[in-house]
Amino acid sequence: MAKRGMLIVLSGPSGVGKGTVRKALFETGATDFSYSISMTTRQPREGEVNGVDYYFVSKEEFEENIRNGEMLEYAKYVDNYYGTPLKYVNETLDQGKDVFLEIEVNGAMQVRANCPDAVFVFLTPPDLMELKHRLIGRGTDAMDVINKRIKKAVGEIRMMRNYDYAVVNDEVSQAVARIQMIIRSERLRVTRVMPDYEQMIGDEN
Ligand code: 5GP
Repeated sequence: MAKRGMLIVLSGPSGVGKGTVRKALFETGATDFSYSISMTTRQPREGEVNGVDYYFVSKEEFEENIRNGEMLEYAKYVDNYYGTPLKYVNETLDQGKDVFLEIEVNGAMQVRANCPDAVFVFLTPPDLMELKHRLIGRGTDAMDVINKRIKKAVGEIRMMRNYDYAVVNDEVSQAVARIQMIIRSERLRVTRVMPDYEQMIGDEN
């Protein structure tokens, strides 16, 4: 039996550019992992293709999938359902191939609860990292603007704590390179590699 693949979850706050980074990652042509196409009830945007960008389904169909236990995770986002069909993920992982999800934060936390050995990558907006420098900088922002930014940043940092890696999306190509580096390193983690060697050492310690 092939060693089970690794599940990679890219998530982060809304508007951070998850979709753009994910597309750029797969456009490199150097991806030896599979993208799990999500299911959604939202309308296709211009140029989006069913079965490529998403599986576009009705609300009824989505809810039936939920009832039948066919979703690995799902969330409601701006009045629409988004979710990961379980079958494709399981079958691909069983073949020993790694699977990549790009999902919002509520869904990512469901995956974390169900698949603790997945790799969780949090994409952060560059201003979250720059915020502290700016705040102690020249002080040109009005107090209420600063307070709003701090509130948003606190929420994002709280979310980040639940992840394994933080990738700043300062430049798409840089973010892609960082994610590739994470995946390469994660594959070398002893707990992932050890099962390959366990047969060699047998029952002896
Ligand atoms: P959009 O409508 O812009 O394509 O996606 C809206 C949000 O839904 C994005 O944050 C995207 O990451 C998220 N999303 C896409 N697919 C899934 C999914 O399968 N599950 C969850 N939980 N979120 C998803």
